[in-house]
Amino acid sequence: MTDTTTLVVAGAGLAGVRACEAARRKGFEGAIVLIGEEPALPYDRPPLSKQMLTAPPGSVEVQLRPRSVLEDELNIQVRTGVRAIGLDTGSRVLQTSEGEVEYDELIIATGAAARKLPEAREFSGVLALRTIEDARRLRGHLVEDTRVVVVGAGFIGSEIASAASKLGLRVTIVEAASAPLVRSLGAEVGALCTALHRAHGTDLRLGTTITAVRARLGAEPDGLGRYPVAAVELSDGSLVEADVIVAGIGAVPATEWLQTAGVRLHEHDGGILCDANLAALGHNGRPIPHVWAAGDVVHWPNPLFERTMRLEHWTSAAEQGAAAAANALVQPADRRPYSTVPYFWSDWYDTRIQFVGVPQAEEVVVQHLLDERGGMVALYRAGERLVGALTIGRPDLIMKYRRLVASAASFAEGVDLHAGAVA
Ligand SMILES: Cc1cc2nc3c(=O)[nH]c(=O)nc-3n(C[C@H](O)[C@H](O)[C@H](O)COP(=O)(O)OP(=O)(O)OC[C@H]3O[C@@H](n4cnc5c(N)ncnc54)[C@H](O)[C@@H]3O)c2cc1C
Repeated sequence: MTDTTTLVVAGAGLAGVRACEAARRKGFEGAIVLIGEEPALPYDRPPLSKQMLTAPPGSVEVQLRPRSVLEDELNIQVRTGVRAIGLDTGSRVLQTSEGEVEYDELIIATGAAARKLPEAREFSGVLALRTIEDARRLRGHLVEDTRVVVVGAGFIGSEIASAASKLGLRVTIVEAASAPLVRSLGAEVGALCTALHRAHGTDLRLGTTITAVRARLGAEPDGLGRYPVAAVELSDGSLVEADVIVAGIGAVPATEWLQTAGVRLHEHDGGILCDANLAALGHNGRPIPHVWAAGDVVHWPNPLFERTMRLEHWTSAAEQGAAAAANALVQPADRRPYSTVPYFWSDWYDTRIQFVGVPQAEEVVVQHLLDERGGMVALYRAGERLVGALTIGRPDLIMKYRRLVASAASFAEGVDLHAGAVA
């Protein structure tokens, strides 16, 4: 342990909470201040696009820890509704909407914000999904006979479509690419995802974009001057009636508050560039003393894959929170690089999709599993190595693939594992 007396965590999501918990678990007895801009106590996001959209409103518990655990057991000063607005790394001061907070060590865990459709400003019923408030708002729209248009067939968009379909609503997905997830996971998996949506009656419009939104004729604007949506016009000339439009078009790291802080951001994805220990880098490419980052906001070199990456996955956000806190509180010689085999899951209709590893591959081999459990697996090959695996409807297999990818196993070993599941 160092002689740190105050650990400040900016961003009270999963990575932020895990950072605080890890600090206490490691025996840190100083002050911990957890600062989050949302009014709610830290909560879990995966249920927002799943159970929260299908269960009766108010019936799903998403809080990560009760207030009593955070404040009394862990002795964390939780400041909700407080926004980090600037950072002076020289004098170790975090500027917030409620004044300055001094730190000895700072962990930035401000996550990402959902990209919004520009139409959101002009029309009511144009939504995005990132926060618990977004989920409540969207749930309120998912009532009988609502016609739902989802923009983007990525994970969040597809989960929203699945939830709306489960509620018996008419759902159309508008996707610019030739298949869902084709850019991130390849054409083979894209085709499987297309089939999954269509098998559940979702109207999937591929290779199309929205060219215009039509307002309901004769409707009054709401208090913000926005008119209710009635339909969307698509680039193929078709018209789709809609009562609600939901954007599933990705998220951007929440770093706008760091613009003058001297923190280096990735030129394409905007994540905070970190070293392997999750220390934030300055413009000179060297770690900024006492500043760390964790979660969706981080772009770091993952030693297991010899490349840098930014993930938006629950598991890595949780692990990075703990890893950043551990490194912040020990002597430099005791710091450890954070490496992981990326893992995420997603629930579409009643099917679980899981992915481990990285999708950058020379070949993707898809196999329909013929044992009594069924399902599918797609294996990703780079050179002779198994670098990734995706399963559809086979949660029993995914961690076995993760171990293979972690041990730099050959592609042949991956195929053998999967041949065992077929037998
Ligand atoms: C709807 C949804 C469903 C998901 N489902 C899955 C899934 O099924 N499987 C999976 O692997 N992953 C899933 N994820 C991804 C996973 O939830 C994220 O990777 C994880 O929440 C990231 O945690 P984080 O702490 O880095 O960021 P966040 O959870 O975004 O938390 C960051 C917090 O910081 C706050 N903040 C931002 N800026 C500031 C500021 N300037 N000052 C103070 N506070 C600030 C934000 O308001 C937020 O509360 C899902 C994400 C979403 C949005």
